[in-house]
Amino acid sequence: MRQQSHLFKETAKQALADPTLKIALNRTTGLLQRRRAQVIDEFPEYAEARAAAEKIKTHTLEHMAHYLAQFEANAIAAGAQVHWARTPKEASEIVIRICREAGATSATRVKSMLGEEIGLPDALSEAGIERVETDLAEHIIQLAGDPPSHIVMPAMHKTHEQVAELFREKHAEPSEDDDVTSLVESARRELRQKFLGADVGISGANFLIAENGSIVTVTNEGNAELTVTPPKTHIVTAGIEKLVPSLAHATVFLRLLSRAAIGAEITQYTTFYNGPKRKDDADGPEQMHIVLVDNHRTEMLGSFLRPMLRCIRCGACMNHCPVYASVGGHAYGAVYPGPMGSVLTPAMRDLKSTKHLPNACTLNGRCKEVCPVNIPLTDMLRSLRARQHDAGLTPPVTKWALRGWGWLARRPKLYHRVTGLAVFVMRVWSMNKGRIRRFPMAGNWTRHRDLPQPELGTFMQQYKRRQGK
Ligand code: SF4
Repeated sequence: MRQQSHLFKETAKQALADPTLKIALNRTTGLLQRRRAQVIDEFPEYAEARAAAEKIKTHTLEHMAHYLAQFEANAIAAGAQVHWARTPKEASEIVIRICREAGATSATRVKSMLGEEIGLPDALSEAGIERVETDLAEHIIQLAGDPPSHIVMPAMHKTHEQVAELFREKHAEPSEDDDVTSLVESARRELRQKFLGADVGISGANFLIAENGSIVTVTNEGNAELTVTPPKTHIVTAGIEKLVPSLAHATVFLRLLSRAAIGAEITQYTTFYNGPKRKDDADGPEQMHIVLVDNHRTEMLGSFLRPMLRCIRCGACMNHCPVYASVGGHAYGAVYPGPMGSVLTPAMRDLKSTKHLPNACTLNGRCKEVCPVNIPLTDMLRSLRARQHDAGLTPPVTKWALRGWGWLARRPKLYHRVTGLAVFVMRVWSMNKGRIRRFPMAGNWTRHRDLPQPELGTFMQQYKRRQGK
């Protein structure tokens, strides 16, 4: 995927002007929020499970070297081959080399954001290997030529009506009807033979289990099993932070992941793979390769961004983010959108080319509240802003405004007078209509929404009034 984070302001503006995108985002984020709230309500041990998950990840990250070595030894003992990649380029080169050694002309692929991170779709097409995306949403965006716009629902930017039109245009035998079941059947007809004919199956991993060298995939469509079982070679690409010490630990995350991601108690398919096919196995790949990718993760491990490595890629933070819900995932111009992406992208690239991302946030804190591993996303976004400021990347207007505000905030009496005056002016300006449609120097805000009319007096004035002072 082409990195375009530096164009965030332009791409966000385009997204805000797209009414169909608005419909698609509202439908799905709203549904996911309601479903998540319901299953969390029905899960009395949620707080305990969340605290346990945070503790397990924190412990694993503290002992990363130990668990990585343990995972590698056990995966090799189970018959897999383990490869290490420092950069995305190294990782995709390893995958292509394995494909070539297997004589592959086609590869089926299960949705994996790590695959996007290392640029695997482009690397496969440059190597002349046909790529078949087997996840329904990935199939949709492959046909449309779009990058994913969400880490769990990559086609979130498309409406059901757009998908029906796309299938009619691209499928060999499209369904007559446009209902969801018919669309799924149409995709199944298109994909089924490709599953069986692929030379290599490529998957990601939701978890890597150190105690036995297994990898775990979680899907709702069963496409992971169909992708990795028929071909002779199975390639797994995974970030090193996917480690958990044991099977028992993995189950804690499995209870949280689907609830946070799609508001379901459990996903339809959870599969544990331990090495390639054994002598007496009825099916399975003859070779299993696991490519472990760093891509700045060890740097994050030693920095203030370490908590970000707890992320289990559930997508709940973006489903609850008002900025994501307004502009969608493509506007971020990066593999990982939303709040988690606004932390990860600068960490994996640089502060300068991604400078808009940590600022694309209202710091309302909903992302942290819904995160199943309690990642302090807003704290990290604030720290990234502070680092941008120290690196001289803050625009001069913002810098002077902050300096002025800091000067004023250190003089409480003057501060109260100035804010009191501002409230008075805004109330007069609103002409008691309850909202302000235009306000000098607030054009960026009022272009897309109204400013509410302020209450009578500042917070402190109202507080004193209520206290009868
Ligand atoms: S940061 Fe938290 S909420 Fe966001 S994707 Fe990662 S685990 Fe899920």
